[in-house]
Amino acid sequence: MLAILHPDTDENSEDYKKTLHFLEGLQDIQLQNHVVHGQQQKLTEIYLVGNTAKLDIEDISSLPAVEKVVRISHEFRILGKHSPESPSLDFEYNGIRFNQENFHLFAGLCAVDRRENVEIMMKTLQQFGLQCTRMGAYKPRTNPYSFQGHGLECLPYVFELAGKYGIRVIAMEVTHEKHLEEIENCLEACGRPTGVMLQVGTRNIQNFELLKNLGRQNTYPVLLKRGFGISLTESLNAAEYLASEGNTRVIFCLRGMKTSFNTPHRNMVDFGHVPVIKRMTRMPVCIDPSHSVGTLEHSSDGIPDVFHATAQGVIAGANMVLVDFHPRPAEALVDGPQALTMEELPIYLEDVELTRETYLKRIQRFQAAS
Ligand code: PEP
Ligand code: MN
Repeated sequence: MLAILHPDTDENSEDYKKTLHFLEGLQDIQLQNHVVHGQQQKLTEIYLVGNTAKLDIEDISSLPAVEKVVRISHEFRILGKHSPESPSLDFEYNGIRFNQENFHLFAGLCAVDRRENVEIMMKTLQQFGLQCTRMGAYKPRTNPYSFQGHGLECLPYVFELAGKYGIRVIAMEVTHEKHLEEIENCLEACGRPTGVMLQVGTRNIQNFELLKNLGRQNTYPVLLKRGFGISLTESLNAAEYLASEGNTRVIFCLRGMKTSFNTPHRNMVDFGHVPVIKRMTRMPVCIDPSHSVGTLEHSSDGIPDVFHATAQGVIAGANMVLVDFHPRPAEALVDGPQALTMEELPIYLEDVELTRETYLKRIQRFQAAS
């Protein structure tokens, strides 16, 4: 059961104290407090966990600080959207705001290879007014003999260059809690010139100990990639692991599903699920067209499949795009064949802008009609 308090309830107020006193006195019920920062207001939600069947909704609704009581029937207790009016998560990280309404593009290197390529990438992003990127330092690879990423060694120059070119958030995959420590120490040592969004890859989505560790810290938001071979419910439960440990700054990323029918694409594009995730949960939704499509092929209309897939996600309301670019794809140590080039960046950006504008117009049309 969930007790939603009046917006902006002060924890020192009499109403709050009276409410909490009553709830704390309930037998066999544990309380968990969560504060959700909405666009205009702060919402405090108190989860009542345990034998809630015997509780009377009326008793709890009449408490002075309580606005509304909801019996939670579905399993995504914290990240789930329990009623259509539940506010989406809305957080700011290093000056960039994330929620289910706005939109950000994270173009960058799948894997860091050379300082020079990182610099060209970031400089170009700055020229186009972009403040976010992706940079892989720790790469989980299918084959143990493949390049595993430069790891800690590349972090100082990646962070320094990000600061130099005004990059505020870098999506960076971590596969072990030790990586979090390395990132934290390195950012601290170089004076926090940028920020990091910790990425959990599709292969690690059910690494529950990693999720718990990332959930226990609140310094960094987490980008969680859907498991490519498990159900959506299982992937959303994985997201809930982060929230249940305390970190609700979570973005959910669709990146295609493994099936035997996906060829010639690398994975089956699942961006039709963007509105589904936004309806079921409060998480902003990201799409990764590069790892879904995995090729630069185009059809007779001249538009590469990866552009088409991006458009499919953006026109359905995606809040973030994670996409592979590389100044010299032939030099890339991971996923060069799917990386777009710097020359393609302006065309890609225009295409994304066009699609996003169309999405916003579609919302207006539907709202006017209803
Ligand atoms: C990546 O984004 O670099 C990556 C490895 O993605 P995924 O976990 O979706 O395969
Ligand atoms: Mn990759």
